[in-house]
Amino acid sequence: MLKRNIDDGGDREPIHSAPKRTRLAHKNSQGSISNASKKKLKHEDYTVGWICPLEVEQTAAWEMLDEEHEPLPQRRSDHNVYTLGSIGGHNVVIAGLPKPGNNPAATVVAQMRATFEELRFGLLVGIGGGVPTMTDSGIIRLGDVVVGKPTGVHSGAVQYDHGKSEVGEFKRTSSLTQPPTVLLNAAQKLASKRSRTHHDPILENIKRINTTVWGLQKYEHPGLVHDHLYRPDYIHLDPKVSCDRCKCDPAQRVQRDTGDDDDGTRVVVHRGTIASGERVIKDGVLRDQLAEQFDVLCFETEAAGALDDFPCIIIRGISDYCDSHKNNQWHGYAAATAAAYARELFFYMPMDEVKRCVPAQEDYQKMQLG
Ligand SMILES: [Zn+2]
Repeated sequence: MLKRNIDDGGDREPIHSAPKRTRLAHKNSQGSISNASKKKLKHEDYTVGWICPLEVEQTAAWEMLDEEHEPLPQRRSDHNVYTLGSIGGHNVVIAGLPKPGNNPAATVVAQMRATFEELRFGLLVGIGGGVPTMTDSGIIRLGDVVVGKPTGVHSGAVQYDHGKSEVGEFKRTSSLTQPPTVLLNAAQKLASKRSRTHHDPILENIKRINTTVWGLQKYEHPGLVHDHLYRPDYIHLDPKVSCDRCKCDPAQRVQRDTGDDDDGTRVVVHRGTIASGERVIKDGVLRDQLAEQFDVLCFETEAAGALDDFPCIIIRGISDYCDSHKNNQWHGYAAATAAAYARELFFYMPMDEVKRCVPAQEDYQKMQLG
């Protein structure tokens, strides 16, 4: 059984590397789903929203659909980019923005709910910055998935804000809306099922992304040799170039032995509290300070806006460690693991329970739309 020692010199195959494989049967040779096979449904047929503002996240989400549906008309004020389809019998709206904006997730959600009034809840799926801490599933590292789960006094997500600009001036503002029970139950059942089998359906889902296609190469596992955690107080030397090029000192990396229980056949999923705030954390000391203060596993910048009045579960693939060394190298694979987890969750959501969730559209009518 492989021992997962991250800075071990790189003479081992990456553990999550997805084998190459041919496209799925419902897709054509160009990798897109054929128009002839697309169904056209009505706006009200869609009950689940999948929110992913970044393009790298939207593409990964698209690859997770069982089938894609024909686009539907949207209002002129609705600037979202939608992909419609189904997973496990649930009709899902994948929503993103054509370009990053000021408060993108909140905007995406507001417009999506105005167009698709029967949406019951959302999945906020994408990349996030991890806290390199130990959980029941092991040490959090790049490419792992963190899923929001109510823990202690927190609802699964905690919102913090920076009252002043100085480092360390963050204060918690509130716990965010708890994910809907149907999603929490689905996450619980999925965890239980995965714990009892060698086969990992999440890893299988990642393989849906054909990384031999030029535009999908970014979803390839970068290799464990590129998962470096530096000491929290060791600052990246040149923000304009990568650690390798600016020669960040390898002696400052933290050696992590993640144990003997990982044989590389599964994606590691951690469940707990996720921190959401306006500011991207790029400071290892601040990361650890906030993580300890709020007992969080992961940081992200979108949920606080989206979760205001829309029940969601947050699913984040870990693409960096929220320190000054962060770069884009793991964005693709981390987006893929998050999307692959999200896809699997659909198979644990009973159709009738989803429909019983009340769409909060009445309250929502009061919201101002852009
Ligand atoms: Zn560096």
